[in-house]
Amino acid sequence: MSIVSNNTLQQNGVAAKNGNPVVVIGAGLAGSEAALQLAERNYQVKLFEMRPQIQTAVHKTDQFAELVCSNSLKSTKPESAAGMLKSELASLNSYLYKYACKHAVAAGGALAVNRESYSLEITQLIESHPLIEVLRSEVTSIADVTRDASAVIVASGPLTSDALAADLQTITGEEHMAFYDAAAPIVMADSLDFDKLFVQSRYEESTEAAVGDYLNAPFTQDEYDAFIRELIAADRVIAKSFETKELFSACQPIEEIARKGHDAPRFGTLKPVGLTDPRTGKRPWAVLQLRAEDKQGQSFNLVGFQTNLTFGEQRRVFRMIPGLEHAEFARFGVMHRNTFINAPQLLDRSLRLVTQKAAELPVPVFVAGQLAGTEGYAEAIRSGLHVALEVSAYLRQIETPVVPKEMVFGALLAYATDANTVDYQPMHVNFGIIEPLEVRIKNKGQRYQAYAERGLDACMRYCEDLRKLGLL
Ligand SMILES: Cc1cc2nc3c(=O)[nH]c(=O)nc-3n(C[C@H](O)[C@H](O)[C@H](O)COP(=O)(O)OP(=O)(O)OC[C@H]3O[C@@H](n4cnc5c(N)ncnc54)[C@H](O)[C@@H]3O)c2cc1C
Repeated sequence: MSIVSNNTLQQNGVAAKNGNPVVVIGAGLAGSEAALQLAERNYQVKLFEMRPQIQTAVHKTDQFAELVCSNSLKSTKPESAAGMLKSELASLNSYLYKYACKHAVAAGGALAVNRESYSLEITQLIESHPLIEVLRSEVTSIADVTRDASAVIVASGPLTSDALAADLQTITGEEHMAFYDAAAPIVMADSLDFDKLFVQSRYEESTEAAVGDYLNAPFTQDEYDAFIRELIAADRVIAKSFETKELFSACQPIEEIARKGHDAPRFGTLKPVGLTDPRTGKRPWAVLQLRAEDKQGQSFNLVGFQTNLTFGEQRRVFRMIPGLEHAEFARFGVMHRNTFINAPQLLDRSLRLVTQKAAELPVPVFVAGQLAGTEGYAEAIRSGLHVALEVSAYLRQIETPVVPKEMVFGALLAYATDANTVDYQPMHVNFGIIEPLEVRIKNKGQRYQAYAERGLDACMRYCEDLRKLGLL
């Protein structure tokens, strides 16, 4: 089926500024979506893809939109964050989502995809599109491609080539680019036992009124011993060989620290010094600190708990921590080879690079996909779509409406581009960072249902605003 013949936006679109094409670097999930969205709006696109000339450590084919690991785009349940993201993709006419549905294979409540036929069809669509020129070559300099472009989208993903990563660093600053993610788990606040946890910052006086920025989970000696025993014995993800050595030398997972010595975590991540449990008046044997992940304190990060345990083992072992017995995980800890930029310091809400060096380039540079610090296949597609809308708006010199924070992508975008976000690690959509409801609903099922209904309303309004501007 040809996209071209069906799309009305084609007639409404305008030619790219100065007649120059929009350059997209990388034909992964984000880049393929962005290229198709722009071409369907009648913009010339020049799409660079380095494979097969240069392969990455995880891609196996030379096709576009390759799913590099699992073939699942996660839950389709409308009242889940992943399900809400799918409904947003559908409302915004995402091509990669539409074709994922077409190539779906049975997977219970999830959207799983036949990866071969999916990639093949996306590749054919792009290669046969009259407005997309595909160049099978590596981009090594952003400045070079800006010269005859109207805008540039960098969507080169977590395995961005070394040469391009080095070049990007000159624009972002070395300190704002990471090559590994080491994300600690995040738990939902309302799943924690506040009878066991206490609020206090290290070395702050404990008074009757709680003080401090941290929640503290105090261990007795027995609880600590049992926890460390299970932590060491737990199943780990077998990291790919290209990842393990450098990754672990950059950041030690908590289970590796424990393996070095039973008490090692107690003198590091779990150190109790400067903390007094107000219930006992004493310093606990060990303490895990939890830091709020969002302003409203809806979710908390397990400080220093970077881990390589499997998700199932994280759920089992970390629930042994006092106060976390019923913890629900908004995000599990991950450690990956993963190139990404410090989005909160570098990108605005349109995912445009706003550094001094970027401002010196002749055209704007946008970043989409995992490189922008969003995590997950559907998130990569959604950010490619978002950037395509923003580039269209830029070329037509109009302002886009703000993506409402009630939409799951709006919440992720706000989180990822908020300069106050500290120690940024790639994030997928989740209810731990969503705008709280005006009136809190205690029942979890009903609360999630309310998020979904509110999100759908916000999405309809957002789409309507885009339509009025001729962007959708
Ligand atoms: C090992 C690993 C496993 C993952 N597993 C999952 C999973 O199971 N589920 C999930 O939801 N998410 C997973 N992710 C996270 C993420 O969702 C995927 O990586 C996703 O493919 C990101 O999409 P993207 O478009 O940003 O990058 P990609 O899909 O990787 O696309 C980037 C493209 O850019 C090309 N490229 C790179 N450098 C250049 C250059 N200099 N010039 C031209 N082209 C270039 C690459 O060849 C590639 O085709 C995983 C990530 C990694 C690293």
